[in-house]
Amino acid sequence: MLPKKKLRIETLAVHAGHSVDVGTGAVTEAIHLSTTFERDADGGYSRGFLYSRNHNPNRNSLEAALAALEGGAAGAAFGSGLAAVTAIFQGLKPGDHVLAPSDIYHGTANVLKHLFAKWNVTASFVDMTDLDVVRQSLLPQTAIVWMETPSNPLLQCVDIAAIAEIAHSHGARAIADNTFASPILQQPLALGCDMVMHATTKYLGGRSDVLGGAVVSRLDDEHFAQLRTAQLFGGAVPSPFDCWLVMRSLPTLPYRMQAHCANAGKIAAFLQSHAKVSAVHYPGLAENAFHAIASRQMSGFGGMLSFEVKGGKDAAMALAANVEIFTRATSLGGVESLIEHRASIEGPTSKTPQGLLRVSVGLEHADDLIDDLTAALSHA
Ligand SMILES: *Cc1c(COP(=O)(O)O)cnc(C)c1O
Repeated sequence: MLPKKKLRIETLAVHAGHSVDVGTGAVTEAIHLSTTFERDADGGYSRGFLYSRNHNPNRNSLEAALAALEGGAAGAAFGSGLAAVTAIFQGLKPGDHVLAPSDIYHGTANVLKHLFAKWNVTASFVDMTDLDVVRQSLLPQTAIVWMETPSNPLLQCVDIAAIAEIAHSHGARAIADNTFASPILQQPLALGCDMVMHATTKYLGGRSDVLGGAVVSRLDDEHFAQLRTAQLFGGAVPSPFDCWLVMRSLPTLPYRMQAHCANAGKIAAFLQSHAKVSAVHYPGLAENAFHAIASRQMSGFGGMLSFEVKGGKDAAMALAANVEIFTRATSLGGVESLIEHRASIEGPTSKTPQGLLRVSVGLEHADDLIDDLTAALSHA
């Protein structure tokens, strides 16, 4: 049992959700692959487990750990980030409306546009960096105000506390996708959000080897009960092994985030001074339009950045074709640095500038990454 006093996040990352196995003394957790659990002689389930879709020891551990890291009352884990997003919206009813940012993760927009629209849950996508736009876009039936900050791929930041207050004064709930920041750098529940969502696929898993999602709720209330119902009845649950993999990565999360931030800061500064780069999007740069708000609500600026190469798509593709340490791939949050031409993955409707490359800065030495970009930029 952890001491009752408030623990710091590094300690929680190591211990929350973990316990020494009572039966064997094993210091690390076993992986409980069993799908079904023994009933008592009287038909009860005194040990708390019945069937693995409902509850599993590895999933319980992960949910407890994530709830502790985000400072919430309860957590629910899912088989992917978008399964977590879907379960949140499954708590809505026909006629409800979601207010979402225009530069939302395209997968979340797909869930709203292609799955929920036909059940008459509507959504509008607006510029949430302007609080007046947020106020003016609320409808009587707005049930959720969705935030994603920093955003993808322009790293725009929105004022979480101010938007949560606007949502609440309107009777709507405020929910933040905290994937880019991680609970180490930003805590949306403490800033007033009702729920926080993660693609654990990214920084929490941290190794590009497990897909997962999670939601943490500030209160163990009726909305969390609806989410639990979507998880149990809908069944989009993560496997015990996947839960174990994410748990295995959590203790290093605070230190990985420090290193991701330090490396990204150096690379952003290098890119900003390069003659072939026309723009760098990173809230850690003092000149960045979102530097002030990011400084207020984040304890570090993260490992994600994007930049625009002079010469548009051809120059950007030539740069990406010539990297040796960076890997050309989508996704983020792993130990290895990734580089990606966003417009071509987002498809023909994408509004992302054609010269833009998004970078997930990994844990290699910053100077090696800068040397790699220097060489690749000579081809751009
Ligand atoms: C990756 C991602 C998701 C979706 O997670 P999946 O595990 O790929 O389903 C949602 N939001 C953000 C910000 C992401 O980066």
